[in-house]
Amino acid sequence: MNNWLNIIQNKLLPPRCILCDSPGLTVFDLCQACYAELPRNLNCCRQCGARLSVETTTDLICGQCLEYAPGFDTAFIPYLYQGGVRHLITRLKFNQQYKNARLLADLLLTSRLESQPDQPQCLIPVPLHPKRYQERSFNQSIEIGRHLARQLQIPLSLDHCLRIRDTPHQTELNARQRQQNLQQAFAIKQPLPYQHIAIIDDVVTTGTTASILAKTLKHHGVSRVDIWACART
Ligand SMILES: [Zn+2]
Ligand SMILES: [Zn+2]
Repeated sequence: MNNWLNIIQNKLLPPRCILCDSPGLTVFDLCQACYAELPRNLNCCRQCGARLSVETTTDLICGQCLEYAPGFDTAFIPYLYQGGVRHLITRLKFNQQYKNARLLADLLLTSRLESQPDQPQCLIPVPLHPKRYQERSFNQSIEIGRHLARQLQIPLSLDHCLRIRDTPHQTELNARQRQQNLQQAFAIKQPLPYQHIAIIDDVVTTGTTASILAKTLKHHGVSRVDIWACART
């Protein structure tokens, strides 16, 4: 399972820092200085990954999750959507920089190895509505998911779940309106032979999309759904 190091070391090109073009670390395309400066999401809610206002070293759940539990069970979101991480994600999303997807997946994996969690049986990238996908011909969550799946040797599903409602203007809505806007946004196309799934996303803003997707998966018999994302706003 943990052969990701070998795979990374066998890359064809010697690592170079994507952010400053210095020679990269042996394990990925970042230099030591840029890696050290990446904004980490250390002080966050165990369930949704939101930043907590109090410093804590124990596992805490935020007030919002206590009041209204999201559909997913845990969130693994090791970075904040700032600085170098924001740059890597926006260049991936808008300039289709595939090497950034590989680097973001490597960063997620390195953080996961530090925490030694249970592995899911399948990864599902948050699907785009077919109309959006046609417009952009690119879904950054799929590209990050491909690298994760290959390195962890976990199946990546692009076929089980479909986005059937186009919901482009989430940020202007309040929490309740977002929930309503996303009701029945996803459909399951074929039976899911998995009990534990991780949803893959690049950035989590409110967590509502992942929560609705997780609820849809659970409605179809999945017992545990986690969210793995690179960054939290
Ligand atoms: Zn650098
Ligand atoms: Zn929370």
